[in-house]
Amino acid sequence: MKAASLNLVLFGPPGAGKGTQAKQLVEKYKIPQISTGDIMRESIASGSEFGKKVQSFVSAGSLVPDQLVLDILIDRIVKPDCESGFILDGFPRTIPQADGLTAALQKQGKKINGVLAVMVPDEELIKRLTGRRICKKCGASFHLEFSAPSKSGICDHCGGELFQRKDDSFEVISNRLKVYHDQTSPLVEYYRGRNILHEISGKDKIEVIFSKVCDIIDGLRH
Ligand code: AMP
Repeated sequence: MKAASLNLVLFGPPGAGKGTQAKQLVEKYKIPQISTGDIMRESIASGSEFGKKVQSFVSAGSLVPDQLVLDILIDRIVKPDCESGFILDGFPRTIPQADGLTAALQKQGKKINGVLAVMVPDEELIKRLTGRRICKKCGASFHLEFSAPSKSGICDHCGGELFQRKDDSFEVISNRLKVYHDQTSPLVEYYRGRNILHEISGKDKIEVIFSKVCDIIDGLRH
C-alpha cells in the first residue's frame, strides 16, 4: 500500500453539505474533489454522448447505472493529480459501486483510508435543498434563508449568477431521498464493517463540521 496517499470518501445524503466540506478540504489537504454529480452535470451541459445517456436519470433524481458511473470514476482516479489522494463526493452510492472502487484501487496498490459520513435528518435536508442556490461561475453554494447572498441572485465570491438546480425541486428531492435510503444508506454498514467509517453530525455549523472532519483526517495520517 502507498501509505502517503489520502483517499477519502465524503458520504451522506443529498444536501448534507458534502460539496461545501469537500471544497474546503481541497484547499487544506491539496487533493482534488471528485464529484460524480458535477461530472454528470458538466457532461449533460456539454451535450456529450455520456451526457445524453445520463440525462434522464439525473433529471428524475434516480441513480445513473453503476457501470456507467464506475467507468467514469475509475478513469478519473488514475489521473496524475490523484497521486497523493482524492476526496470522493457523491460516490459510491451503491454496494456494487463500492466493490468496484475497492477493486480498482487494489489494482493500483491503494485503498480508501477513511469514509466521512455526514448525517442529517430528512426534514432538514428538504429545507436545505429547496432553498439552495448555486453560482453558475464558481459553484459556490448559498441558501435563501440560512446563508443568503448579500445581493439577491448574485454570488458574493465572484459576482456570478445564482441558479437553482433542476433536481432541487420538491418532487425530485423526495425521490433523491428515497433513493438514498433504499440504495445508498446500506453503505454505512458496509464501511462500518470494514472499520473505516467515521460518523459526523451534519447539523452543526459548517466550521464546526469542518474542524471535526479535519481532526478525523489528521488522525488517519498518524
Ligand atoms: P449529486 O450532485 O451528487 O446529488 O448528484 C446528482 C445526480 O447525479 C444524482 O441524483 C444522480 O442522478 C447522479 N449521480 C451522481 N453520482 C452518482 C453515483 N455515484 N451513482 C449514480 N448516480 C449518480
